[in-house]
Amino acid sequence: MREVLPLLASGDVEGSLLAETRSHVARCEACREAVFEYGAQGMLLRASVPPESSESLWGALKERIKPRSEDWSDFGGEA
Ligand SMILES: [Zn+2]
Repeated sequence: MREVLPLLASGDVEGSLLAETRSHVARCEACREAVFEYGAQGMLLRASVPPESSESLWGALKERIKPRSEDWSDFGGEA
């Protein structure tokens, strides 16, 4: 599998081979390191992560960490 990794950096891996390489790299630490050595991680990311998913994830995170001001009224209000 390692011999495919330099090709990944030059964008010569496509289709089912790219999918195969991607799933292998996800499981194989040695190949993952090699991918980074070749600077080919962008190829894997571009192929596996649709651009809008990171935005929706960030949106979901912002929803979670939004300050919940209504909680604070419980402290100062009545006692
Ligand atoms: Zn491997």
